[in-house]
Amino acid sequence: MSFSSQIQAVAYCRTPYKQKFGIPRQPGLVNAARGFVELQAPYNDIDTVRGLEQYSHLWLVFCFHENLAQGWKTTVRPPRLGGNEKLGVFATRSTFRPNGLGQSVVKLHKIHRRKGYLALEISGMDLLDGTPIIDIKPYIPFSDSIPDALGGIAHEAPKLTKVEFSQDAKQQLACYEGLEQYQQLEELIIGVLAQDPRPAYKRAKADPKVYQVALYDLDILWRVVKVAHAKNNDSVSEDTIIVQEIKTGISV
Ligand code: SAM
Repeated sequence: MSFSSQIQAVAYCRTPYKQKFGIPRQPGLVNAARGFVELQAPYNDIDTVRGLEQYSHLWLVFCFHENLAQGWKTTVRPPRLGGNEKLGVFATRSTFRPNGLGQSVVKLHKIHRRKGYLALEISGMDLLDGTPIIDIKPYIPFSDSIPDALGGIAHEAPKLTKVEFSQDAKQQLACYEGLEQYQQLEELIIGVLAQDPRPAYKRAKADPKVYQVALYDLDILWRVVKVAHAKNNDSVSEDTIIVQEIKTGISV
C-alpha cells in the first residue's frame, strides 16, 4: 500500500508560551492561557468556520514543528514515570513521533473577523507560540468524551505544587497586570508553575537552581524550596515554588 499527501498549515497558533519548557503537558491544565488560532489564506474565509460558534470546544490537530528535526523514537520515557521507564511511542503522547502530529482539545471563546483576518480565540492550549495548525474540528461531547475510559499512566491530572510570589515579584506583577497584553497574568503564572515543569528526577532532593519560563515577552524566574510540616505525628516536606522575579525581555 502507498499513501502520499501534501499537508499544509491551515492556521498558526499564537500563545503566551514562547519556549517549550513550562508549557503544560496536556490541554485544559492551565485555563488562564489565552491564545488565537490565526487562519491562513485561503482558509481565512469566514465560510470555513460557519457554524463553529455553536461549539464550546475544538480539536486542534497540529505539528510539533520545533521537534521535527529530531525525528521519532520507537520508545520514549514519559515524564510521568520520572523518566526511568520506557513506553512505545504509540502508547504515549510524546512529541517525538512519526509525522510529528499532536492533537489538543481547547475552549473556543470567540471568532474574530476583520478584513483579511480570521482568528479563533481559545484557551487552555498546550502549544508553543507559532505552532502550525493542520486541522480544526468541533469537539463533540457525546462521542469524544468517554468518562469510564482507562487512562493508563495518565489517569489523573498531575498533582499541583503550591506557588508563592516574593515581595519583589508581587510588585512587578502589579505593574504588568494592569497592561492589556498580559491577560490573567497571575493566574497564568500560578497555573504554569503549579505543574512543576522541572524534570521529575529533580523533585527528589533539594534543588538550588533558579529556573526561568517565558510567558508573553516576560521572563519569570523561580525556584523550589522544601517546606517541612507535621503530618500524622511525622515531619514531611513539600515543595513550594517561589516566583523570584518577573521581568521584560525574553532570554530564549
Ligand atoms: N496534547 C497534545 C497531544 O497529546 O498530542 C500535545 C501533548 S505534548 C506532551 C505537549 C508538549 O508538547 C508541551 O508541553 C510542549 O513542551 C510541547 N510542544 C507544544 N507545542 C510544540 C511545538 N510546536 N513543537 C514542539 N513541541 C511542542
